[in-house]
Amino acid sequence: MRQSNMLIPTLREVPKEADIPSHQLLLKAGYIRKLASGVYNFLPLGKRVLRKLETIIREEMDRTGAQEIQMPSLQPAELWEASGRWETMGLELMRLNDRHERKFALGATHEEVVTSLIGDEINSYKKLPLTVYQIQNKFRDEKRPRFGLLRGREFLMKDAYSFHETYESLDEAYNRLFEAYKRVFERCGLNFRAVIADSGAMGGKDTHEFMVLSDIGEDTIAYSDQSDYAANVEMAPVLPTEEKPKTEPNKSLEKIETPNAKTMQEVADFLGHSLQEGMKAIMFKVDDRFVMVVTRGDHEVNDVKLKNLFDAKFIELATEQETIDVVGAGFGSLGPINVPEDVEVIADYGVQPLVNASCGANENGYHFRNVTPDHDFEVTQYADVRFIEEGDPSPDGHGTIQFAKGIEVGHVFKLGSLYADKLNASFLNQEGRAQTYIMGCYGIGVSRTLASVVEQFHDEQGMFWPDSLVPFDVHMINLNMKKDEQVELAETVYTNLQDQAFDVLYDDRQERAGVKFNDSDLIGITHRVTIGKRANEGYVEYKNRKTGEQQDIHVDELVSFLK
Ligand code: ATP
Ligand code: MG
Ligand code: MG
Ligand code: MG
Repeated sequence: MRQSNMLIPTLREVPKEADIPSHQLLLKAGYIRKLASGVYNFLPLGKRVLRKLETIIREEMDRTGAQEIQMPSLQPAELWEASGRWETMGLELMRLNDRHERKFALGATHEEVVTSLIGDEINSYKKLPLTVYQIQNKFRDEKRPRFGLLRGREFLMKDAYSFHETYESLDEAYNRLFEAYKRVFERCGLNFRAVIADSGAMGGKDTHEFMVLSDIGEDTIAYSDQSDYAANVEMAPVLPTEEKPKTEPNKSLEKIETPNAKTMQEVADFLGHSLQEGMKAIMFKVDDRFVMVVTRGDHEVNDVKLKNLFDAKFIELATEQETIDVVGAGFGSLGPINVPEDVEVIADYGVQPLVNASCGANENGYHFRNVTPDHDFEVTQYADVRFIEEGDPSPDGHGTIQFAKGIEVGHVFKLGSLYADKLNASFLNQEGRAQTYIMGCYGIGVSRTLASVVEQFHDEQGMFWPDSLVPFDVHMINLNMKKDEQVELAETVYTNLQDQAFDVLYDDRQERAGVKFNDSDLIGITHRVTIGKRANEGYVEYKNRKTGEQQDIHVDELVSFLK
């Protein structure tokens, strides 16, 4: 492609609001342009990288046996009402009415649509397990869209959903997708870690996040310096003063013997559900109030087990037991708890009636912390409670805890039958009985991953891309468009390289050498081939953007050198 007529509007200055490298550089190098807060155009360079990233994701997803589909962004409100998320998603869900005043949401995620689709189309276990995925724009009215592509309001996501008859089958798919995610991020050249995502259940196995290590990351990872152990600390970050959490720290929490405590089995029977491993409910007394904490994990606290963490019935059960206050546990936008109106909420972060906090315990005591750091909420701590700290022994018995900042680029999650239950999506199982699907969901932030790569691969001059994502194979620069022998040689090289299937960006602009070199460093294509003074001898200058390696090469040798 000839740069003279390409849409690569490089900038000298970037807007002040761009305060992290990926945001600045993607704007500066002409990869993206802002349309509105959290909404971006991808220009040709950005689109090329995006396409390569999508190809990597498609290849790895297809390898797992997942099938690509495409679901609509425009989604009828009825589906969201059925799942309960029309309420609980709160302001983050973008909503609109059609001309007949019918309510719609713009897809923030697709559990509802996919559950309804598969529920309608599949009615026998013979078609299971099944995994579908799509790569598509998502809409979330983020409270604080920022950091360019890292937290947008319209952004590109790969989302996948798996459907199963048994939990064993879900485990298999989860592990396969987990490995595929690792390969995706490895192929992007990223330095990342897969972390346990529910900090409340240190040691839990049901959800993992893929974190790109970066100082500008909004999440904190606690990892062991001597083993693979890594978990999202999910601590409240330092917020701007006006948004400081209303914290009442160290309010004494006394663990109580619950007089009406039921065994896990009894609770399950009451709810009419089967038991699900790892669910826990704990009751505490704060001053004169009872507090119930629902969590998941392997630890033993009280003998109360639940089938479903998100089950509103459980809260009703709590009310019956005169436990009136609730500290809920949930998982980001995926798993809110609906709290009935007559239940007093002591941990609340804004989106009524959503409660979302987390608790866990290990041999070091009980941990309470919020799951979503963006909202105000009260923290109530057990007397012995403290957050996990750097230097703590490792929960898995190896090494000590270190902290690092991370950007969440992927998330895999065992949903269980929550959505299938709510949306009444069932099939005939092997025993010939109607059963709701057991599901998993798996997301990759595609546009966020692209920006994360820039966070890890840049220097003062600009970005540099891993080979798997570079927008062009070669950046060819002609230093002087007025010199005939240079233009001639450039045209020959340009044609030859393209004949050999190289994707070439040819800087044929009438610009000064300095401008061309600066832009080239900024854009970050690995191999740079400059046609300059030695054109008459048939020599070009080669420079590697990553290593800085530089040498003169004869044009006859160029193709074999680049291969
Ligand atoms: P976050 O905690 O950053 O708000 P999330 O947990 O709400 O993310 P998920 O619902 O797990 O996000 O969505 C799957 C993936 O989509 C995330 O792992 C992330 O990579 C990406 N993603 C989520 N929100 C955004 C956003 N506003 N802009 C860009 N990518 C996003
Ligand atoms: Mg998250
Ligand atoms: Mg979010
Ligand atoms: Mg997530």
